[in-house]
Amino acid sequence: MANSQLKPHAILFPLPYQGHINPFVDLAIKLASKGFTITFVHFEFVHQRLSKSQNSNTNNEIDFFSEARKSGLDIRYTTINDGFPREFDRLNNYDEFWKSLLQDFPARVDEFIGEILQFEQSMVTSLIADTFFSWPPTIAKKYNIVNVSFFTQPALVYSIGYHLDILRENGHYPLKESVVEEINYIPGVKSISTKELMHYLKEGEIETLKHKIASRAFQEVKKADFVLDNTVQELESETLDDLNKKQPIYAIGPISSFLTKIIVTKSFWSEFDCTKWLESKPLNSVLYVSFGSLAQTNKHVIQEIAHGLVLSEVNFIWVVRENIVKSDGINTLPDGFKDEIGDKGLIIPWCDQTLVLLNPAVGGFLTHCGWNSTIESILCSTPMICYPIEYDQPAVRKLVVDDWKIGINLHDGDLIHRDEVAKNIRILMTGTDSLGLKQEIEKLKNVLHKAIEKDGSSERNFDHFVEDLKAKIY
Ligand code: UDP
Repeated sequence: MANSQLKPHAILFPLPYQGHINPFVDLAIKLASKGFTITFVHFEFVHQRLSKSQNSNTNNEIDFFSEARKSGLDIRYTTINDGFPREFDRLNNYDEFWKSLLQDFPARVDEFIGEILQFEQSMVTSLIADTFFSWPPTIAKKYNIVNVSFFTQPALVYSIGYHLDILRENGHYPLKESVVEEINYIPGVKSISTKELMHYLKEGEIETLKHKIASRAFQEVKKADFVLDNTVQELESETLDDLNKKQPIYAIGPISSFLTKIIVTKSFWSEFDCTKWLESKPLNSVLYVSFGSLAQTNKHVIQEIAHGLVLSEVNFIWVVRENIVKSDGINTLPDGFKDEIGDKGLIIPWCDQTLVLLNPAVGGFLTHCGWNSTIESILCSTPMICYPIEYDQPAVRKLVVDDWKIGINLHDGDLIHRDEVAKNIRILMTGTDSLGLKQEIEKLKNVLHKAIEKDGSSERNFDHFVEDLKAKIY
C-alpha cells in the first residue's frame, strides 16, 4: 500500500518505433496534466536518433521534455541501454535485436526499474509499457507496482490478438495462406476476412520473431491490471464492450500530438517544412503520400505508384523514407522522376505529418493505414486511399474502407498497376464519390473531437482509469 498523500507516479516505456513513441509521448503529457508524475524512458539509441534529427550533438544531456516541464508538467526523462553498440542497425538486424529484447533485455529492465525505485523520492506506483513488450507482468509483480498496458492500435486488433485460442479452434490460426474466408465468431467483431488478420498470424510466419513477439505479448497482456487503448468508444463500441467484460480496457483516444500544444521532439528524421510549397497550391488539390515509419515495400510497387501519381495529374507530397525499400531508398523512384514531376510533386524524406494534413491545400492521404496516420487523417477530415502493407494495416483498411466508408482502396486486384493507381487517385481527389467520403469523415472527425471534450467518452474513460488506478494503489 502506498501513501495516499503522494501523487501517482508512472514509468512510461514505449516500444522503440515511431508509431509507438508518438502516442506514448502524448500519453505522458495527458497523464501529467491529470496530476501524475511521469518518468519517461527511451532506449538510448532512440535518444541518439532523436538528437540527430534535431541536428544536435548526440550527447545524453538533451531533455526532450523540458518544454513540458516549463508548462508545469512533472515529467522526468531517462534512457535505457539495450546492450547493442550505438551504430548497430536495429531495423535491418531485426531478428538479432528482438531476440535480445526477448531474452536479455528483461533483466536489464528489472535492474533499471529497481534503481529508479531506489532513488526516486516520490513513490513509483505504476508501470505503463507498450503491449508488445512481454516482460511487464513479471516486473510489475516483483516491484509491487500496477501493470498498465498501452495498446497503440485499434481495439479490433487487440480483440483478434486476445482471441487467438478461438481462431485456433476454428482452424484459422495459424492461418493457411490459401484460405480466404469470412470470420464471424470473434466476440465483439461482427465479421472480418482472413485476408485482414495480422500478417504475423499466417502459417509461414509462425517460426518468425514477429509472430513470437506478438503471440507472447497477447498472452502476457491478459495479466495486465488495466489496458489503455488509443481508440474511441464510439468507433469500436461492440469490440470494446466485449473486451471490457474480460479485462478493464479504457478507450482514451485520440491521443495525438495534433491536440497538444507542448513541443516534444519525437521524429526519427529531420522534418522538411512543406508550408511554402503548400501555400502555392489550390484548396484540396494535394494528395499527401506516406507509408509511415516502418513499412517496407518493393521497387515495383514504388515505381507503379510513382507512374500512377504522374498519370493522375494531381499535386502531391510524397514521403519517400530512406528505407522504404530495403537499402535502396530514394533510388527506387523511376529515372528522371523528379524532373518529370516538376512543381506538381514534392519528394521529401520526412515531415511534420499532422501539420501537412491540417493544411487546407491537402485533400487526400495515400496511406499504409498505420493507426496513428488513420487517426490523424480523421482528425483533419482528410479522406484516405489505402495501401496496407503488413502488421495491423489490413485490419485498419477494413475499418477505414468497409466499415466507416472514409476511404477507398488503392487497387483491388492482386497486382498493383499504374493505371488503376491513377484512376483511384482521381476518384479520391476529384470524383463525385469522394463527396460521400468527405461527409463521412467529417462526421467521424466530430465524434473524435467530442470524445476528448470535458464530458466526452474518452475523457470520462480517462478519469475512470485514474480513479480505478488510484483505488488499486491506495
Ligand atoms: N509521421 C510523421 N512524418 C512523416 C510520416 C509519418 O510525423 O513524414 C508520423 C505520423 O504522423 C504518425 C507516425 O509517424 O504519427 C506513423 O505512425 P503510424 O501508426 O501511422 O505508422 P507506423 O509508422 O507505425 O507504421
